Amino acid sequence: MCFTAVMYRQYVCNHLQAYERHTADCNRTNCAISHSHSGSDHDCRAICDQRLMPQRDLVTEASRYRCDTCLARQ
Ligand SMILES: [Zn+2]
Ligand SMILES: [Zn+2]
Ligand SMILES: [Zn+2]
Repeated sequence: MCFTAVMYRQYVCNHLQAYERHTADCNRTNCAISHSHSGSDHDCRAICDQRLMPQRDLVTEASRYRCDTCLARQ
């Protein structure tokens, strides 16, 4: 099943800020959301996954600075 991945940057104040969001494609023919989804005639609702999996939060970057909110509070 496809899912939405959200990439976060972690600041030294420990706050997270999302900087990128994309849908990861599972490339399965029996997934209605996938680009590889079968174009042939089939009972889509019965056979195929119709929904995205829950969003996945990934902390992929670390910043050496404090986040905008904390900087604005100074
Ligand atoms: Zn999928
Ligand atoms: Zn289908
Ligand atoms: Zn902060």
